Amino acid sequence: LLKIENLTKRYDDNTVLQSINMTVRQGEVVVIIGPSGCGKSTFLRCINGLEPIQEGTISFEGELIDRKSKNIAEIRQKIGMVFQNYELFPHLTVMDNILLAPTKVQKRNKEEVKKEAEELLEKVGLSEKSNSYPRQLSGGQKQRVAIVRALCMHPDILLFDEVTAALDPEMVREVLDVMLGLAKQGRTMLIVTHEMQFARAVADRIVFFDGGHIVEEGKPEEFFTNPKTERAKKFLDIFE
Ligand code: ATP
Ligand code: MG
Repeated sequence: LLKIENLTKRYDDNTVLQSINMTVRQGEVVVIIGPSGCGKSTFLRCINGLEPIQEGTISFEGELIDRKSKNIAEIRQKIGMVFQNYELFPHLTVMDNILLAPTKVQKRNKEEVKKEAEELLEKVGLSEKSNSYPRQLSGGQKQRVAIVRALCMHPDILLFDEVTAALDPEMVREVLDVMLGLAKQGRTMLIVTHEMQFARAVADRIVFFDGGHIVEEGKPEEFFTNPKTERAKKFLDIFE
């Protein structure tokens, strides 16, 4: 579904990602972990075509992701992204936040999207909130809205960048549970997180980044119980 070959990304002379190779198959849940500043967010932004890359290729459903190509907007619609800071529009209600892109960009029927949004909001426990404004919601609620908003675009892959990092501990669980539910449904997801227990539970594969490289990857059981590299061991020690 997603294939990254030899990806190199620099900011001026700072090489943030170096020769990264990764494939994500349909239905797979891949979790990226690694120390702060190692390039995880940059990597997701490259996949979404938000960042120019210096070397290598990223292809999604057989098409090259190229920021300058004409169909980039179309490809991007197939890639749902949820960030750490939700980025809901403050002047729009929950429902209008969700409806905006599907109706304006994808030109879908408003009533149809609305029905879908209501069902999804109910699934994440927010059916009462569709007329609220973002400022009236807790962080965990906002993040669940952001996930519903991404889902209503009918993406083929979901990218999550530390979506619980800005949340109080008691709200983390409710967001992670929604993501676990999506994994169970067989959604394809690429997740950056510092929640190690969650990573272990949700991932089909763990990819450990450090210093712009993929240092180690493997099945969660193997990676967490028996990391092969010193760097991964050291990193995991912090979370013990
Ligand atoms: P964290 O876990 O703290 O979120 P990260 O792994 O997501 O870290 P990135 O945000 O991808 O790390 O940053 C990787 C490196 O790229 C850092 O050294 C950062 O300073 C640099 N960087 C990120 N964005 C830019 C930018 N727009 N311009 C220049 N340098 C940047
Ligand atoms: Mg980051």
